[in-house]
Amino acid sequence: MRNQQTLAAPITCSGIGLHSGQPVTITLRPAPTNTGVVFVNRNGKSGASLPASIEHLVPTELCTAINGNGFQVKTIEHVLAALSGLGVDNVYIDVTAGEIPVMDGSAVPFVRLINSVGLTLQSRRQPYLKIMAPIEVCDGQKRVRIEPSSTPKITYTIHYNHPMIKTQVYTHDCSAATFEHDIAEARTFGFMHEVQALWARGLGQGGSLENTVVLSENGIMNESGLRFSNEFVRHKVLDLIGDFSLLGMPFIGHLIAERSGHALHTRLVEQILEQPEKWILLNTESASAESRKSLPISRSQPAVALQAS
Ligand SMILES: [Zn+2]
Repeated sequence: MRNQQTLAAPITCSGIGLHSGQPVTITLRPAPTNTGVVFVNRNGKSGASLPASIEHLVPTELCTAINGNGFQVKTIEHVLAALSGLGVDNVYIDVTAGEIPVMDGSAVPFVRLINSVGLTLQSRRQPYLKIMAPIEVCDGQKRVRIEPSSTPKITYTIHYNHPMIKTQVYTHDCSAATFEHDIAEARTFGFMHEVQALWARGLGQGGSLENTVVLSENGIMNESGLRFSNEFVRHKVLDLIGDFSLLGMPFIGHLIAERSGHALHTRLVEQILEQPEKWILLNTESASAESRKSLPISRSQPAVALQAS
């Protein structure tokens, strides 16, 4: 366990939103201890801030989005995965539009930017949430569960009736080095028929073979091929790391997911926070651990429908 970390200097990147297709620039800036990850609206003069926490989650199947304080940010999961994967605890993310740029569909562009400036170790300890008893959520055949473990681990299983995927199982021992080496480069994927259906609904406007592995009936459309033979399940691990960071602090436990997706990932986060008898906080500054347990969920938050823009 370590102290909190932030970026050593600001970093910026620009691209288009996967769903909106609109240009957007994000700037990640160093932030003081106990800030967490906070989005800042730089579309116009508002300057409003929105913490990346589960209480601001907007229900959506296609991506992870948060809404509050007069703005929303969609498709936050890949940049959150990069921050969580590398151990960036405190950061402001200025956004000029309502969706994080998709870049190449993976987390590696964000990882390279973060590594280009490096991290600063801060003066406060970083608390960890250690799971003491299993917690599970399921929806039909989809399920995600967290069990006690001495180290953070993720095991993901996916099943698709497609010759390039079939059944893929992957276990990730969480560390900055393994995240960068094994997970960060895995790209978003989608089936051609799904992609066409999304376009028909006005979504996925920024999707292309530059940022999505598109599966045809028997293969993939991308001429450059796959980055890993099991890139699909690795991307699911990436998404889970990003979604799970809405917990607000690193976890110690074994996350086990099968056929899952954003909605179920975030439901598990909610369930964990609603069952404080099943976890403890480690590495806190003082004996005030109990006070952190009143964090971050608010059931009174009304669900706001995601507006496609
Ligand atoms: Zn993803």
